[in-house]
Amino acid sequence: MAVEPSDFRRELLRAANWVADYLDAVPSNPVARPLPTRHRRRLSASPLRDNGRPLAEFLDFVDTDVAPYPGGNGHPAFFAWITTPPAPIGIIADLIGCALNASCGYGENALVDMERGAVRALAELAGLPAGTGGVLTSGGSMANLLCLAAARTWFLTARAATDGDAYDHAHARLVCYQSTETHMSVGKAARTIGLPPSRIRNIPVTADLRMDTDRLRAAVEADRAAGLLPFCVVSTLGTVGTGAVDPVAEVTRLCREHGMWHHGDGAYGGLGAVHPDLAAHYGGMAELDSLTVDPHKTLNVPISCGAALVANADSLRAAFSTQASYLDGNDEWPWLSEYTLELTRPSGRALSVWAVLHQLGRQGVVDLLDHYLRHARLLRELISEHPDLHLVTGGPWAITCFRYLPQNFTGDADVLTAHIAQQLQARGKAFLATVRVHGNLTLRASVCGHRTTKADIETLLAEVLHVGSHLTMS
Ligand SMILES: *Cc1c(COP(=O)(O)O)cnc(C)c1O
Repeated sequence: MAVEPSDFRRELLRAANWVADYLDAVPSNPVARPLPTRHRRRLSASPLRDNGRPLAEFLDFVDTDVAPYPGGNGHPAFFAWITTPPAPIGIIADLIGCALNASCGYGENALVDMERGAVRALAELAGLPAGTGGVLTSGGSMANLLCLAAARTWFLTARAATDGDAYDHAHARLVCYQSTETHMSVGKAARTIGLPPSRIRNIPVTADLRMDTDRLRAAVEADRAAGLLPFCVVSTLGTVGTGAVDPVAEVTRLCREHGMWHHGDGAYGGLGAVHPDLAAHYGGMAELDSLTVDPHKTLNVPISCGAALVANADSLRAAFSTQASYLDGNDEWPWLSEYTLELTRPSGRALSVWAVLHQLGRQGVVDLLDHYLRHARLLRELISEHPDLHLVTGGPWAITCFRYLPQNFTGDADVLTAHIAQQLQARGKAFLATVRVHGNLTLRASVCGHRTTKADIETLLAEVLHVGSHLTMS
């Protein structure tokens, strides 16, 4: 363990230079490079030596065995999923977070208060009421889980059903609602808090891929008539498939009528209220009971950083606070571990999101979202102008779903679409994914990186056209 201070300083400076060089070179390297199977086997096995290795070998190993095989999301021509390049200040903050090595779960240190500050800033950007609390999480999946747990505890508490027979009787009748476009992590969260699939309703969407509130209302009323207990609706603000935003205010109205909790899954689009082009979709944010936001998506905070924002944070505390004699909390500044599953919690996450938010400022956040929206608009314009490309859907967020379909093509369009995506990914100049929209497989391009430029958009389409025309040549 002992390392000579001079060796440590030398390697740290070497690593800092390596990081800057690596990031400089990313745009000129292949977007992604698959790991050869032999290499995967070697890394997966990695037997320990009896005697350790010198400090300096580590960076050499990263350079030769790790860095050449990126997953792609650092590259400006990466358009798959919603995985982004790291914000530069986030990289610095993560490093410093490791050196400070504080826990944001218990005890007192400045980082705990910075986490509180970051949570507040995110809530304000999202348009949630003053006094909103919450915690940072590993990502959207964990934030959805925390919020569903808070919703369940809130609902059962109001019915004096938090224990014993009353709990068993009520819990066996809880029903949760989501749309068919909802991210799979919501269903996973519902299962984790003990709801079987038969009590998770998948509400159909309208033609614009937003939750159909008439169908939602009908489902809630039918369940109540059957003696079940509808307790929570999950809306999605920025669906992962196409970037659609569910009708927030309408869903809240229905929730209030029926005594339900309204959770917004805004892992992707939770901050839309700050941008003038998106704000119209975000009326009623102040009435949400909870909201998931993923700073590791639109804010480009290094992986991983999510946030569970809860209007009345006492509901979150009620779901997770458990006293233990060896942990001596503080009622004026409750430990953040009382609001989540984790006790020991990373400080780099708090430092990183705090640093990104404060470097950007409110206007910087608007400009960053604008960068994505502008490039998505350009992509859609170019698609619309080309006779062999068909815009299927997308938006209001920066996701675009389209197909390559030349005039004379008579084959299976889904098969062609899948092959285009695979071959395009393998060529390494750009990277996109696919998604099913209204039953058809489409190419799906999400713009969510601060480094993406007009040239990257043009490269993406040139690649689609190149691969597509080769595949359809007869
Ligand atoms: C990405 C995403 C999630 C999951 O978030 P992770 O950070 O990957 O756990 C949940 N919901 C939506 C809408 C998402 O886009």
